[in-house]
Amino acid sequence: GPEVLSVQDLVKHYPVRRGLFAAPGTVHAVDGIDLRLMPGETLGLVGESGCGKSSAGKTILGLTPPTSGVIRLNGRRIDTLSRGSMRPLRKDLQVVFQDPFSSLNPRMTVGDILAEPLRNFDVVPASGRDGRIAELLDRVGLPAAAAGRYPYEFSGGQRQRIGIARALAPEPKVIVCDESVSALDVSVQAQVINLLMDLQRDFGISYLFIAHDLAVVEHISHRVAVMYLGRIVEIADKAALYARPQHPYTEALLSAVPRPEPGRARTRIPLKGDVPSPLNPPSGCRFHTRCPLAIDRCRTEVPAMTKLRPGHSVACHLRTPD
Ligand code: SF4
Ligand code: MG
Repeated sequence: GPEVLSVQDLVKHYPVRRGLFAAPGTVHAVDGIDLRLMPGETLGLVGESGCGKSSAGKTILGLTPPTSGVIRLNGRRIDTLSRGSMRPLRKDLQVVFQDPFSSLNPRMTVGDILAEPLRNFDVVPASGRDGRIAELLDRVGLPAAAAGRYPYEFSGGQRQRIGIARALAPEPKVIVCDESVSALDVSVQAQVINLLMDLQRDFGISYLFIAHDLAVVEHISHRVAVMYLGRIVEIADKAALYARPQHPYTEALLSAVPRPEPGRARTRIPLKGDVPSPLNPPSGCRFHTRCPLAIDRCRTEVPAMTKLRPGHSVACHLRTPD
């Protein structure tokens, strides 16, 4: 297909050893997810903390090997590649993490931080590097003089801009944004989101945008996938998902998002308790322990992902095509 990134039946399980109060077991972090990302598209990946969205991101990035499944970048299978064979392909698959401070080497100047990917991926000849660094800084809204300074000299928002410049340096096709704006103040979040959208418009970059904040995801995404305990429970075009959510979990998450127009407030659907442990996920529909609509069948039967209409699929026994 024409997708720049695709994930088929991706599984990430990892064993945990016996702990002080816990028996050994297997964490079902990601349990068979399918995703496709088109050129120039932003796919939001949302869910509460502990739903597996960061594990999915790390596995897709090759930072941890999948248990099973297929990951393709530009049509080429990457999940089976060794670290060494993957290295040159990483040019096209970059990441912006939540905390730029921990991901930027404090002993390196911003110029050195940006020179690294330019050199590693041979993006420009050595003679053109300083010019390219200035261009990158300009693209993310920082002055050229920032190149001579260190990460600690910048604010959180500016550091995130440096992280974005570093991800942008190899001219990637895909950037995985893992809670990239979650640590920032709301006004700074909006600026960084707008920057990401400008870069997408100008360079055709695709984003896998992982976040727990549904308001932020609504602004930047074209499509949104909702994850619960390792599985995708709903995926739809942004407008449809926010206007007509079909999965009770999506409805509950959305009902907690404040709406700007007072007349259109949603009825609040409280989520009972916390996300159950991914060590022993509930049988049947994994959401049944918290679902206000659960029926007997939900405890035993796994709901299949069902296409309700073009571009809108959901995994719930109560939702069937019109
Ligand atoms: Fe709720 Fe059952 Fe639908 Fe799961 S399948 S979301 S438990 S109604
Ligand atoms: Mg996380």
